This record gives sequence, C-alpha cells and structure tokens, in this order.
Amino acid sequence: MDMGRFGTGLRRGSWEQGELFELLSLMTMGACLWIIGARLGVFDSISRFALAHDLMNLVMLSGCMGLGVFAAAIRKSFLLRRAMHARIAAEAQAESIARHDALTGLANRRLFHETLAESLRSRQAGEQFAVLLIDLDRFKPVNDVHGHAAGNAVLCAVADRLRSLTPPKSMVARLGGDEFAALVPYESDRDALIRLAQQIIAAVRNPIPWNEGQLEVGATIGIALAGAENVEPEALLHAADVAMYQGKREGRGAFRFFQAEMDVALKARARLEADLRLAITRGEIAPYFQPIVSLPAQDLIGFEVLARWNHPTEGLIAPDNFIPIAEETGMIADLFYGLLRQACSDARNWPPHLQLAVNISPQQLQDQWLPERILGILAETGFTPSRLEVEITETALINDLEAARSTLTSLQNSGVKIALDDFGTGYSSLYHLRELRFNKLKIDRSYVTSLKQGSERAKLVDAIIQLGASLSLQTTAEGIETATSLDWLSDQGCNFGQGYFFGAPMPKDAADRYLDSAEAARLAERQAKAAHAA
Ligand code: C2E
Ligand code: MG
Ligand code: MG
Repeated sequence: MDMGRFGTGLRRGSWEQGELFELLSLMTMGACLWIIGARLGVFDSISRFALAHDLMNLVMLSGCMGLGVFAAAIRKSFLLRRAMHARIAAEAQAESIARHDALTGLANRRLFHETLAESLRSRQAGEQFAVLLIDLDRFKPVNDVHGHAAGNAVLCAVADRLRSLTPPKSMVARLGGDEFAALVPYESDRDALIRLAQQIIAAVRNPIPWNEGQLEVGATIGIALAGAENVEPEALLHAADVAMYQGKREGRGAFRFFQAEMDVALKARARLEADLRLAITRGEIAPYFQPIVSLPAQDLIGFEVLARWNHPTEGLIAPDNFIPIAEETGMIADLFYGLLRQACSDARNWPPHLQLAVNISPQQLQDQWLPERILGILAETGFTPSRLEVEITETALINDLEAARSTLTSLQNSGVKIALDDFGTGYSSLYHLRELRFNKLKIDRSYVTSLKQGSERAKLVDAIIQLGASLSLQTTAEGIETATSLDWLSDQGCNFGQGYFFGAPMPKDAADRYLDSAEAARLAERQAKAAHAA
C-alpha cells in the first residue's frame, strides 16, 4: 500500500539498545561504589574484620549471592522487555487490522478518514489535494452471477490497478462494498486529475481474468478538491459522493467534478422522495380522468386515469416529475394500487359502458402478484374487470418478455384488456406485437399533435393504423388537439381518439360534470335524429 505523504506508520522502540545501556549503567554504578569503597578503605576494613573473626567464607558467600541476585535481575529485565515487545507488536497488528481492509490490504474507511482529517488540519498554506471517490459499475451482477469469490477477485484486481495508477504521495482506500477512494496531491493541475480519472476508468474497465473466462466491471468517479478554504473531511467526502452520484445518473463510466449546484439538486430530490413517500400514504396522489372517444362517432367510451400529486405547498405536480422517482425507489406499486382503488371507486356510479384505462410501469410487470392485486381491488370496489384496460409501454417488454407475457395473459384471462401505450417511441418491434396478444395500440401523441396531411409523420400514422387493422388490433390516437387531425384520423380508420380537443385530464368533480354534459349532448342528438326521422 502506498502511504507516502498521507501515510501513517508505527514508531518501534529499539529496546536492545536500551537493555545494553541499562546494563552498562548498572556496571558503572557498581564501579563507582567500588572506587568510593576503595578510597574510603571500606574494603580493607571489611577484609581485616573478616580475617580477624574468621568470616572470610561468609564474605565470599554474600558476594556470590549478590552476583546471583544481579544475574537474576538482568534476566528478569530481559524477560520483561521481551513481553513488552510482544505486546507492542500485537497492538501494532491490531491497529493495522482495524485500519486496513482485510481483502485488498488497502486502507479502510477509518484510516482514510483519519488521514484526510490530519491532512486537512496540517496542510501548509497553498497546499491542495483531491478526493476521488471511485464506485464500481456492474459489480452486483458479477457477484450474483459468478459468486462471491469472483467478486473478491474483482475487488483485489481493482485495488492493485488503483495502487499502481495513483501518484507516489497518494493514499488509496476501500471504503466498503465496491466503493474505493483516493487522496491525491493536487498542484492546481486540473488536467492531471482528469488524466488520472480517465486512466482509472480505462484500467478498471479492462477485463479481469477469472477461471476460464473474464469478468468485466466499470467505474464512475466523483472528484472533490480541498482548495484554499477550510473544509471538513465529511464535507469533502460528501462532495465527492455527490459528484459520483451525478456521474452515475448521467450514464456511468464517467468522472464528474463536484459543483455546488449538484448538492442543491440532490437535496431537492431527496426532499421530493421523502415527500412522495408521505404523499402516497396520505393519499395525496389523485386520479385525473381524460376522456377517450370512439371515432368517427365521437361517443365517450371511457377515461384514461392519469396520476396527479396534490402537493400541500407546491400545488399540482405532473406525473413526469414524480413517476420516475416512484419507479426508481420502488414506491410505484403502492402508488399504483392507491390510485387504482381511488379511480375505481370514483367511477363506480358512472354509466357501466364506460371504461377506465390505467398506466403501469415496466417493473410492475415483473411482479407475479400484480394480476391478483389488481383483481382484488376491482372486487373490493365493485368494478368489473372487463371495464378495465391496462396500458403498458414497450420498455416493459424489453426487460423480461416472459414475465410480461405471463402477467398480461393472466390479466386478459380475467377479462382485463391490454393496450400498448406510446407506440412508436420505444423499441417496439413486430416481434412483440406478434408474441403478445394486445387489444389496442395507442399511437404516441408526438405523431399526432400538429399532424400535417401528406407529411412523413402522417404517412407513419397511417401505416400504424393499417398495421393495427391487419393484426386485428384497435388503435387510439393520443394528443388530438384540432378538428383537422380528428377528421384525418377518422378517415384513416383510427378507432379511438384522446386529446385536448375532447378534454384535458380532469379531477373527479369535473369528470362528473363532463359526463352530465356528454349525456345531455347525446340525448339532444338522439332527439334531433328522431325528429329528423319523423
Ligand atoms: P401517457 O399514458 O401517454 O398519457 C398521456 C399524456 O398525454 C398525459 O400526460 C396527457 O395529459 C397528455 N395529453 C393528453 N392529451 C394531450 C394533447 O392533446 N396534447 C398534449 N400535448 N398532451 C396531451 P400526463 O398526464 O402528464 O402523463 C404523462 C405520462 O405519465 C403518461 O403518459 C404516463 O406514461 C405517465 N403516467 C401518468 N400517470 C401514471 C400512473 O398512474 N402510472 C404510471 N406508471 N405512469 C403514469
Ligand atoms: Mg397512457
Ligand atoms: Mg401515451
């Protein structure tokens, strides 16, 4: 591991030298005693006294015993020092384990954080450095498909590549999971940092040999600079994290420098996410109803249910602003069931020939309990399954066709109809149309609004209507805004129409009034026809 400028090391005492020094000191003290004793004539007095009283043997005995005690003291001292050495080594090892990642040998989050804090505290004026947060892309599938041993091999290979790429005075750490970090000196050379980030991305992308084959992952990097201003280690790591997250959102395999706006956007998004969670439980997501009419008669045949968020402070929020968040965070199922329940009970007293069309998100099709849950809500609200149509987009079919097939078939077997929404905008292929029994194709509004006769777009719309007819599929044109478009679409044989021309999405009260006026108009028309016939 490269600790260099940002490294920490343990100071080890040279105890052997200390031992020798102590021995010499003791011997010197003994020599001093001897000199003093000789000068004062103590030894002569003792030997005279011992000779006079025949105690020489006793003197020799005490001398030998003294030597024995001296040797024992030295031995004890050696043993004590050895025990102390073993304890220091064990402590150093424990210290090292607590601050390093056992798998890769890199510094761990704790050591990285300590080093970062120390570097920020002790840096000289003008000294700068950068934190690179490196998160692996597609690591989870490697673990899931090839097992943990393969995952470990990837982590070790990435650690080696990072070690070899980072400049000499850097520190590389594994912060946890598939997240790495590097603390590198920064000499106001942004290009050098860019080059480093690019090299890391390229190196991580290089296949990693595993058994007979290869493993492939990628890396997304967030970069935060510790400039002249004072900054806390947490703030620096957070900034790198925000930049990395931005890189992930914008397509992975890239690097991003932290910019203050990113943080603002991220906080706003986190707030929206928390608000949405609450909104779903509080029932703030309401169904709006957009009329769908038959062509060319223009009789109302039902409504499409479109989600609207009645936000307590922000007002009405359109689905494009919260459905993607609900999808990403897994809240979409709860949102959908709440909306369906509300829409079905709103429509309970409407004329029984009117249908409801609801939108479901791609990931909902992977839920094998979806048909049961939908049918349960229909039973609970007294809404007949044959009055419900489920709209799915083509993206749902790309992910897992088999799961989509079984969910859709089981819904259709219960009488629910299935429409392919936004046709012409996704990856639809004839293969999907042939493989799944749709009841309806909804031509995306981008083809329909501002439709000009004879234009390329008009030719495409015509082709879609003919394709639908040849596959016995009904077609609905979305986004009809003008009488000209309406007439042209009716002439081409389009079966249904939807758009602002007939009515924008509206709340239940407005839909009730719309129904009353549609009913009144129908009645007036019938009466006029009857009068005409008479
Ligand atoms: P979509 O299902 O294709 O819905 C039609 C969209 O076209 C609606 O936008 C509607 O307001 C808009 N629209 C209708 N007539 C016209 C017109 O004449 N001109 C123009 N320019 N636009 C028209 P909205 O309500 O904003 O919904 C947008 C999308 O959000 C929907 O597209 C649908 O994909 C999604 N969405 C809405 N509610 C839900 C929901 O409950 N669940 C899921 N998963 N998605 C939903
Ligand atoms: Mg739709
Ligand atoms: Mg649509």
